Amino acid sequence: MDCLFCKFINKEIPTEIIMENDYFMAFKDINPKAPIHVLIIPKKHFADISDMDGEILAKFPEFVRNLCDKLGVTDTGYRIITNKGKDAGQIIFHVHFHLLAGNDLGDLI
Ligand code: 5GP
Ligand code: ZN
Repeated sequence: MDCLFCKFINKEIPTEIIMENDYFMAFKDINPKAPIHVLIIPKKHFADISDMDGEILAKFPEFVRNLCDKLGVTDTGYRIITNKGKDAGQIIFHVHFHLLAGNDLGDLI
């Protein structure tokens, strides 16, 4: 399958990995919208959140905890967003969670 994020997972295309385990990988967004902007992706391909396997999704909080400890944002806080479909502006169809942190993130949501 011709999926950019699968190529990051398979190491076909190099990217700066911040953390990975058996289920997820985290790397810096190429076009950061906050001082810390990291993308978290499952290693298995799903198009979007509605497509995702519940068993894998259940592993998400532990990964986020470890990642945020490593980034030093556990106490200061962060925001996680996932886009699904056209109206949300999804452009990569391998589900990904935007982790934003590093200053006052505003009150959009
Ligand atoms: P979406 O709108 O699909 O939720 O967001 C896709 C995100 O992927 C965007 O924030 C975009 O900057 C990021 N992105 C797109 N191409 C690349 C890439 O080649 N490398 C990295 N690290 N991020 C990318
Ligand atoms: Zn993929």
